[in-house]
Amino acid sequence: IEANNLHARLDEGNQKDEIAHLAQTFNKMLSRLELAFGVQKSFIANASHELRTPLTVITGQIEVVLMKARTNEEYRETLMLVLEEIKNLNTLSNKLLLLAQTTVDKGDLNFMPVRIDDVLWKCQKELLARDMTNSVDVFFGEGIDDDSKMLVSGNEILLKTAIINLMDNACKYSSNHHADVFLDATENRLSIKFRDSGIGISEKELKMIFQPFYRSKNVLSSSGHGIGLSLVEKIISLHNGSVSVVSEPGKGTEFTIQIPVCQ
Ligand code: ADP
Repeated sequence: IEANNLHARLDEGNQKDEIAHLAQTFNKMLSRLELAFGVQKSFIANASHELRTPLTVITGQIEVVLMKARTNEEYRETLMLVLEEIKNLNTLSNKLLLLAQTTVDKGDLNFMPVRIDDVLWKCQKELLARDMTNSVDVFFGEGIDDDSKMLVSGNEILLKTAIINLMDNACKYSSNHHADVFLDATENRLSIKFRDSGIGISEKELKMIFQPFYRSKNVLSSSGHGIGLSLVEKIISLHNGSVSVVSEPGKGTEFTIQIPVCQ
């Protein structure tokens, strides 16, 4: 059995004796491997598609503009469109690289004490710089009675990436482009909630949004690649934390991340 015929299975004989049990266990392992290979394959297919689409658009735009002499205004318009596609490609490749980085060994990530409130302020500033119509309010709960409650052991760049993604989604998928962020702490866990009053996510789709490249049907007209949330999940699990979400279509969405505080 090789990578190209992972669907093959052993004969499970009479289904009863030890040899049959061994064959069944072996077949179960093959099923898991087949599934993992399938996930990898579809990841590569999706990534190539996402990379190829903007490249095709860029090539098409340039070919059309070069067919005859154009006015300065026409050249400018084409260059603006091409620039937009290149920016998109840049965001996508950065996210893919980060996704690859989060699958490396945790030891290589240089975990250090990170003040989460600092990260939140930086993310809030960056989101505003990206788009002036975005707004983020940050609230502190009663559990934050001491600076040490806001200290986690982590990688600041990765934590910033996860938090920006959640703030960005909250603004992107709500008509008022606004996110409320609530920071609170219990004994040993920090919780950050990202709440919006946007389009929401249906119950059926809630199960799928963490899969790489998955995008809900109702967001296909807005920009994005469907990688953000899988990145968030990976980053938070590297920090021994968890991500959860509750949502009501048409009302809004709330993502919660929980991370252990520094001991
Ligand atoms: P992207 O935003 O680039 O599409 P993500 O991985 O960040 O990719 O999100 C995956 C999908 O989950 C989005 O396409 C959207 O359908 C849904 N989603 C994520 N956050 C929200 C939100 N705050 N409100 C509504 N839908 C959301």
